[in-house]
Amino acid sequence: MLDDAPTPHVLGDEIIIIENLYKTFGNVRAVYDFSMTVRRGEVVVIVGPSGSGKSTVLRCINHLETPSQGDIYIDGVHLEDKKTDINAVRAEVGMVFQQFNLFGHLSVLDNITLAQRLIRKRSRAEAERIGMEQLERVGIPEKARAFPRQLSGGQQQRVAIARSLAMNPKIMLFDEPTSALDPEMIKEVLDVMLDLARGGMTMVVVTHEMGFARSAADRVVFMDQGCVVETAAPKTLFNNPQHERTKLFLSKIISH
Ligand code: ADP
Ligand code: MG
Repeated sequence: MLDDAPTPHVLGDEIIIIENLYKTFGNVRAVYDFSMTVRRGEVVVIVGPSGSGKSTVLRCINHLETPSQGDIYIDGVHLEDKKTDINAVRAEVGMVFQQFNLFGHLSVLDNITLAQRLIRKRSRAEAERIGMEQLERVGIPEKARAFPRQLSGGQQQRVAIARSLAMNPKIMLFDEPTSALDPEMIKEVLDVMLDLARGGMTMVVVTHEMGFARSAADRVVFMDQGCVVETAAPKTLFNNPQHERTKLFLSKIISH
C-alpha cells in the first residue's frame, strides 16, 4: 500500500511558472486564466472533472499546445519568446500519457534508446547502458528485448516512464498514467512514480488516484472549467475543501 510518510522534498527555486494562461479551441474555453508555480522538487497533483482543462495545461507546459494568451517559464526560459528553442526545452520535460505511445515495431530497449540517440545524440552503447539502468529502476530489465505487445499494460507504462527518464528530464508530466490500466496493474506504476517523487523529481501529475496524491503530492490543484478553483496540501484539500465545487467533485470520486 501507499503509505503516508512525508515526502522529503528540498524546495528550491521556481522551475515552472504559468501566468494567466488561456487556451481556446474555436469557441471552447479549455483553459481560462490559469496560474501556477512549481518549485524544484515539488510534486503537484491536478484533479478535476473531465473536460476541465487538465490535459491542456500539461500540453501547454511542454508546448504541445500553444497558449492563446499567457506566459509559461520553464527553468527560467520563456516559452512564448520567439527566440526560445522549444525542442531544447521539451527535451528537459518528460511526459507520460494515458496511452503509453510505445512503438510496436521496436523492442523495449529500442523504444528507450530512440530519443536519446536522436535528441541527446548518445551513441547506441551509451543509450543502451542508460536505458538498462532505467529499466532496472522501473523493475523490468528482463523485458529489454521484448516487444510492447508481449508486455502487460502496467509493464508498458513502466517502459514509457523509463523512456522518459532516460532523457534525464528536469520535470516529469503525467497525464492520467494509470487510467487505461487494469486495476491490478495500477499499483506497480504508482510505486514507480512514488519512488521518483521521493527521489526529488519535479512532477506535475493529473490523476484521480487519491492515495498517490496523499502520499506524494506537496500540493493538489483542483480545476474546473479551465480555472483553478482551489489549491492546498492534499490533506487540507481532501479533508477540508473550501469550495462547493471541490466538495461536489470529491464526493463523487472519494466515495468509491
Ligand atoms: P481534461 O484533461 O481535464 O479532461 P482537456 O484539457 O482535455 O480536459 O479539455 C478541455 C476542453 O478543451 C474540453 O472541452 C475539450 O473538449 C477541449 N479540447 C481539448 N483539446 C482540444 C482540441 N485539440 N480541439 C478542440 N477542443 C479541444
Ligand atoms: Mg485529460
